[in-house]
Amino acid sequence: MFHSFLIKYAEIGVKGKNRYLFEDALIQQIKYGLRAVPGHFSLSKVSGRIYVECPEDYDYDETVKVLSRVFGISAFCPMVYAEDKSIEGIKKKVLQYIRDNYEDPHFSFKVDTRRANKAYPLISMEVDAMVGEAVLEEFPGTRVDVHDPEEVIHIEIRETINIYSKVIKGAGGMPIGTNGKAMLLLSGGIDSPVAGYMTAKRGVVIDAVYFHAPPYTSERAKQKVVDLARLVSDYAGPVYLHIINFTDIQMYIYEKCPHDELTIIMRRYMMRIAEELAVRNECLALVTGESIGQVASQTLKSLYVTDEAVKSMPVFRPLIGFDKQEIVDISERIGTYETSILPYEDCCTIFVAKHPVTKPNLNVIKKSEENLSEKIDELVKTAIDTDELIIVGKHKKNEE
Ligand code: ATP
Ligand code: MG
Repeated sequence: MFHSFLIKYAEIGVKGKNRYLFEDALIQQIKYGLRAVPGHFSLSKVSGRIYVECPEDYDYDETVKVLSRVFGISAFCPMVYAEDKSIEGIKKKVLQYIRDNYEDPHFSFKVDTRRANKAYPLISMEVDAMVGEAVLEEFPGTRVDVHDPEEVIHIEIRETINIYSKVIKGAGGMPIGTNGKAMLLLSGGIDSPVAGYMTAKRGVVIDAVYFHAPPYTSERAKQKVVDLARLVSDYAGPVYLHIINFTDIQMYIYEKCPHDELTIIMRRYMMRIAEELAVRNECLALVTGESIGQVASQTLKSLYVTDEAVKSMPVFRPLIGFDKQEIVDISERIGTYETSILPYEDCCTIFVAKHPVTKPNLNVIKKSEENLSEKIDELVKTAIDTDELIIVGKHKKNEE
């Protein structure tokens, strides 16, 4: 059983004061992820390294799963300590390590010792040679290859003596909380959870908004969005999910505007409300799951007209250049796909016209929106005032 994990992170652009912010945010996120794994894990920051000390009898697979979802980690290495720090102690521990971790040790290897503790009586090269020899003797299927080894046995002589050879790939990106906050328009589809994931990967905290249209959209459709927000929160940390009741606005647009313009006008109102919520919650950008040309409402013209509704902040569309299959691949990998494809209606599909405009003209759309002038401000205000907030992913046992 491994005693601890060494956490590696890419340090590019993480210098001086930023380094502390980065490391502290990373530690915070590791703790957040590990709250779901039984037992007390302790984290330490020693000479510019982060270690996760594991409790006895912890769930290794679950711990690996959690760590591989933490943004900011480039790789992590499960380690054992040599409690007996003498060279004999180290040799014994390395042999034990190989026996425990390689069923039938047949590989080329080298030993790579790093001696941070200069008081240790042997230099790195001596440790390399002595441990290497012991491995060769004990396991006839192994051979030394210093140039292109299949396995590198790392020995670190520090406050502790650390032994590891496995390097598990991390999620990459930046720790959540190092890059401000954005408002994700989260629907029940495949795309927007992936867009949220990709934005969170750059260290951005995610708030989310879902436009619900009861009774045209069911409670189950809403629950599906809550579930998706929870899946996103496995990577992004707690998500503040705003549920906006969109029914009256939708009905009013339906009543007052040409039906082939309904989708685009509805989308403009979603953007406006999302922007207002973003301002109120100190978000610096909106995020959507749109990609060019995927559906009628995502032609470049439509995106142009949709975008024009937002006045005070950028709209990020991290999937803009992706094909559907590429988005599906990511959603399968991050675990949102199965939930996204559950067949509950979303509010756009119910009111869509048979032939929605695919090349909306901004002036024409603005003209149609004038038909809404009598009641729309009031309806928008009510929708925002009656916002239902669900905090997802905050506790060990989630609230919904
Ligand atoms: P998705 O798979 O994310 O649902 P989609 O391919 O169905 O996307 P649209 O329905 O055109 O595309 O929606 C485009 C984007 O608008 C979505 O990715 C999402 O960001 C946002 N959006 C659409 N409907 C809603 C809704 N009911 N609530 C919140 N955001 C929405
Ligand atoms: Mg959708």
